[in-house]
Amino acid sequence: MADFLGPLTFEPILRRLIWGGRRLGTLLGKPIGPGDDYAESWEIADHRDAISRVDRGPFAGQSLRELIAARPQDILGQDRSPESRFPLLIKFLDARQTLSVQVHPDDRLGAELANDQGKTEAWIILHADPGARIYAGLRAGVDRQALVAALGTGDVEPLLHWFEPQIGDCVFIPAGTVHAIGAGIVLAEIQQMSDATFRLYDWGRLGSDGRPRALHIDEALRSIDFGRGPVDPVRPVLAEQPWGASESLVECPYFRVDRWRLETATQVGQSDRFTILIGMGGRAWVSSSGGEAELGLGRTVLLPAAGGRFRVEAERSALLLVVQAGSLGWTSAAEEG
Ligand SMILES: [Zn+2]
Repeated sequence: MADFLGPLTFEPILRRLIWGGRRLGTLLGKPIGPGDDYAESWEIADHRDAISRVDRGPFAGQSLRELIAARPQDILGQDRSPESRFPLLIKFLDARQTLSVQVHPDDRLGAELANDQGKTEAWIILHADPGARIYAGLRAGVDRQALVAALGTGDVEPLLHWFEPQIGDCVFIPAGTVHAIGAGIVLAEIQQMSDATFRLYDWGRLGSDGRPRALHIDEALRSIDFGRGPVDPVRPVLAEQPWGASESLVECPYFRVDRWRLETATQVGQSDRFTILIGMGGRAWVSSSGGEAELGLGRTVLLPAAGGRFRVEAERSALLLVVQAGSLGWTSAAEEG
């Protein structure tokens, strides 16, 4: 159907949490209200807690789940089971305060402990205040015994590896990696469609109700990969292109993420899979015979598989993330029960 060939854009789903701020509005143009606790903007989601809705065009008002139920292979690709659920979750996140120290389970433990998938995720830093930190991985040599002892005394920070990120850094956080996003950071997050998070340590602070937020220490300790060690930003593999340059940021069984510096125009998308574009700076347009969408900082666009090759053109120069799903992380409506 020709009307399924165009780029799809969705209403952002804003989540308010104690550590959030206002930069989803001031930096990324999201429609926030007067509060100062806007933590996450779920850009493309089909999770039991939140499902994206198309914001304009012939499918305005329809949910991603409804679209996939009606035309699964036009969106996801001809090889996909008609029962497939959308496998990725795309978010922006504003940490006015440091998030809890946490870990996500792998798929097996996610099913067992959280009735959810596991969560492997990747971050691309959009803003970092001077001195802002990313905590990623345990320091070399920190084992379960040392971590349990530190949890007992509340002196956890010295066991965590951290660095001060630069704008554009990509951090890959496979399931099992202990992590915390520090105060003063705004980032884009690409992850498995899961909300399975186990909080290990909350810096001794209190929640909005004046009580400590719940921890999940047993589940977290089971989920941690103690062999993972310290995690630093990925080193992108740069390739010059006729239209600019591309960098391979992450390629894992759940997704691949490339960054394009687009100087002119080219084509993007594949007829056997969907592609997600995320605007990271500058301005570009993506179009097909089915329609057009703008890509500036903070804009996220889904290119359905049935659209095949889309034209993408920079106004002058634009930075884009190009995201595709991997072979793992697919679930079906039948499994959900
Ligand atoms: Zn996380």
